Amino acid sequence: MKLYELGVKEAQEGVVKGDFTCADIVRSVIERFHEKNGEIGAYLTFDEEGALALAERNPKAVPIAVKDLINVAGQPCTCASKILRGYVSPYDATVIKNLKAGGFIPARRANMDEFAMGSSTENSALGVTRNPYDTTRVPGGSSGGSAAAVGGNMCIAALGTDTGGSIRQPASFCNCVGLKPSYGRVSRFGVTAFASSLDQVGPMTKSVEDAAILLKALAGHDEMDGTTPDEPVPDYPELIKGASFKGVKLGLPKEYFNTAGIDPEVKRITDEAVRRCAAAGAEIVEVSLPHTEYAMAVYYIIAPAEASANLARFDGVRYGHRSAKASDVFSLYTQSRAEGFGPEVKRRIIMGTYVLSSGYYDAYYGRAQKVRTLIKRDFDRVFGEVDALITPCAPTPAFKFGANQDPLTMYLNDLYTIPSALAGVCASSVPAGFTRDTNLPVGVQFICGGFEEAKLLKVSKAYEDCNH
Ligand code: GLN
Repeated sequence: MKLYELGVKEAQEGVVKGDFTCADIVRSVIERFHEKNGEIGAYLTFDEEGALALAERNPKAVPIAVKDLINVAGQPCTCASKILRGYVSPYDATVIKNLKAGGFIPARRANMDEFAMGSSTENSALGVTRNPYDTTRVPGGSSGGSAAAVGGNMCIAALGTDTGGSIRQPASFCNCVGLKPSYGRVSRFGVTAFASSLDQVGPMTKSVEDAAILLKALAGHDEMDGTTPDEPVPDYPELIKGASFKGVKLGLPKEYFNTAGIDPEVKRITDEAVRRCAAAGAEIVEVSLPHTEYAMAVYYIIAPAEASANLARFDGVRYGHRSAKASDVFSLYTQSRAEGFGPEVKRRIIMGTYVLSSGYYDAYYGRAQKVRTLIKRDFDRVFGEVDALITPCAPTPAFKFGANQDPLTMYLNDLYTIPSALAGVCASSVPAGFTRDTNLPVGVQFICGGFEEAKLLKVSKAYEDCNH
């Protein structure tokens, strides 16, 4: 077995026992990079010497791939955008500091949709990433580089971010475990903001146990992010030991099972997953989240509104690209932004600015916030009835490049992942099987209440065990 094939648990055990060092793992991953990255394109940059030097200084650490919007001191952080080409981070994000303290080192920058806007990584301005299971198809997005790196055995594990589904959907497409923590569980300091009331960093791994290990390192209170409460971080890896479905009540939200447009193979695999959970002892009950149908509309008001404010900082003055055509300060802003941002980012900025403008604020933004509260209440109520929800993760398996040209059909990819993001609860995607005709991986989604990651990981682990 090659070292790049290892998961977090095995890699940690190996470096602790002295079977191999962090530098050995990094060398193995570099070898794999040269063999595979031309085809897969999971990574934007790979500072080989820097990664090796860091590994030599930390022989017992485990290297982790990082989505290109998380700041690591001295490394580029482009968010896969032309506007940040050449930008080098002056500091470490809190998640990176936490990782280092937890025995990991950041290595390699994973491709993504520009500023995390998208579901296929086709919106990257800097490169194409292909699905390791079928290179004619997308890896999902926006954490598509991270997912392709994990699914293609090009790293031990990776960090992604999820605003409306960007950890879970690509995890489903690339056969990895992905976990979106509850809002506030993990610090956002140093993570380039897309929609600040939704963004969360989370693990993308080869097993549920690996996700538990990484989440334990990532999570916790941070003075630099006021949304992270001072709650102790449970010992997730310890808590999932012996996880089972005995006594677990699993809810099937009926709104997630009656949707038009769900691929029949995804439906079959999800139904089969539910049957396996039941056979392993879970009690299955149908539940209702009645405001689900409004979630897409609410998300595509709130997320662009927040993005339009967050992206105002990229003005050609402080960071990255500065237009050479500018003749005064106003044209410096407009030209730099016109040249630097891609079409999807511009679309979001325009939508966000529109819904926040004085004549439309109450009708769109204000109303969306109210409906968001109703969506959140649906989840609060349902978690009084059941321990966890089981749902499809994405309506289809990985699709072909160019298949979702129309932005609206692309947005529909996040149908099942957006409501839980709006509610701020935690959710995972766990590999569930392969389509019969095309042999593509499909994940199933589990959702638990806010700060119930231990429960979520237990249910995910119990499912992983009964699926083997
Ligand atoms: N695909 C969704 C979007 O484009 C979600 C992205 C994300 O979670 N970062 O906004």
